[in-house]
Amino acid sequence: MNLIRPIPVKYRAESLYDRIAGNRERALVFSIVLTVVALLYLGFHLIDPETASGGSLHGFYRAMHGSMAAFSGFAALLFLRRTKVHAPRREANAHAAFIVVVMLWGTGIAIADMVNGEDMTAYALALIASSAIFRMPAAFSAASLSVSAAIMALGSVLACGREQVDAAIAAWIYAVVAWFIAAYLEEGRKESFVARRQLEERNEELRDISFHDPLTKLYNRLYVIEAGQNIVLYHRRYGLELHCVLLDIDHFKKVNDALGHPVGDSVLREFSTIIQGCVRTSDTAARYGGEEFLILLPRTSAEDAFMVAERIRATVEGHDFRGVPWAVTTSLGVASLASTDTMESLVARADEQLYRSKNGGRNRVSMA
Ligand code: GH3
Ligand code: MG
Ligand code: MG
Repeated sequence: MNLIRPIPVKYRAESLYDRIAGNRERALVFSIVLTVVALLYLGFHLIDPETASGGSLHGFYRAMHGSMAAFSGFAALLFLRRTKVHAPRREANAHAAFIVVVMLWGTGIAIADMVNGEDMTAYALALIASSAIFRMPAAFSAASLSVSAAIMALGSVLACGREQVDAAIAAWIYAVVAWFIAAYLEEGRKESFVARRQLEERNEELRDISFHDPLTKLYNRLYVIEAGQNIVLYHRRYGLELHCVLLDIDHFKKVNDALGHPVGDSVLREFSTIIQGCVRTSDTAARYGGEEFLILLPRTSAEDAFMVAERIRATVEGHDFRGVPWAVTTSLGVASLASTDTMESLVARADEQLYRSKNGGRNRVSMA
C-alpha cells in the first residue's frame, strides 16, 4: 500500500470535500470531549492542587487547561455553526488549526509532566488520538507531527536535562507511529472514496446507455414511456397542456431496399437531428421504434404543438438526405392530453392521428 499516492486529478476537488465532510462530525465531537476534559483538569488543579500532580507547575497547568477549555469550547461552537455554512476551504483550515492546537496542547502538558514525573502520556495520546480520529493529508500529518515531536524532544531535554535523550527519541517514535496511523487510514478512506465515485460513474454511464438509442443518440422507448408517465401525471395534476407527437418516416422500406441499410441508418440519424433542431431542450424526443419517433411537448398549446409538428414535416420534406435521390417525407399525428389520459392512451390517440395522416396521403400532420 502506497501511503502517499496522489489522488487522481479528476477526483481531487470532490475528495477534498469528502475529507472535510468526514472531519465535520469528528471535529465537533472531539472539540466537545476536549472541552470537558480540559475543564475537568482545570477544576482538578484549581480545587485540589495538593493531590493533583502538578508540583510547582500548577499555574502552568491551569493556564494550559484553561486556555484549552476556552479554545475547544469556542471551536465546538464554530464547528456546530460550520455544519450549516458552506465554505470548504475555511472549514478545512479550521479543522487543521484545531488539530495543530490539540497536538501542541498535549505536547505542552507532557513537557510539564516530564518535569514532574517523566511522563509523556499526554503527548502520545494527543498525537495518536488526532491521527486516528481526523482525516489528514499525509503531508499535513507529517508536518504537524514533526513540529510536535521537535518541541517535545527539545522541551524534555531542555526541561529535564541531557540525560533525557531517550525521551527525545521516544517523542520521535510516537510521531512516526502516529504518522503511519494517519497516513494508512487516510489512504484507505481515499481509496474507498475513489472506488465509490468510479462505481457511481459507471452506474450513471450504464443508466445513460440503457435510456438512449445508440444509432440516433435520442432517448429510447424504455425511457420515454417511463418519463412520459410522470410528465402525464404532472400535467394532469396541475391542469397543464401537454401534447404528444408521433412521427413515422414515409416509405422508409424503399430507402433500405433501394439504397441499402447503411443509407437507411444515415437517414435515421439526419432525421433525428432535424427533430432535435425543431424542439426545445425541455421537450422530450425519443426513437419510439424502427423509424417511428415520439415527442412530448410539455406546457404547449394545441396551436404551438401543431406548429412544431408542421415545422418538422416541412423541414424533413425540404432536407436533402445524404445518398437519397428523392425527397424523404414524414407523417405525423398529434394528440392533446385529456384529463383522464395515461401515457398509453395519449400515445394511442397520437397513433390514430398518425394513421389518419398515412391514409390521407402521407407527408402531413393530423391532430385530434
Ligand atoms: P409507411 O410510409 O407506411 O410508414 O412505409 P414504411 O416503408 O416506412 O413502413 P414500415 O414501417 O413497414 O417500414 C419500416 C422499415 O424500417 C422496416 C425496417 O426494415 C426499417 N428499419 C427499422 N429500424 C431500422 C434501422 O435501425 N435501420 C434501418 N436502416 N432500417 C430500419
Ligand atoms: Mg414508415
Ligand atoms: Mg413504421
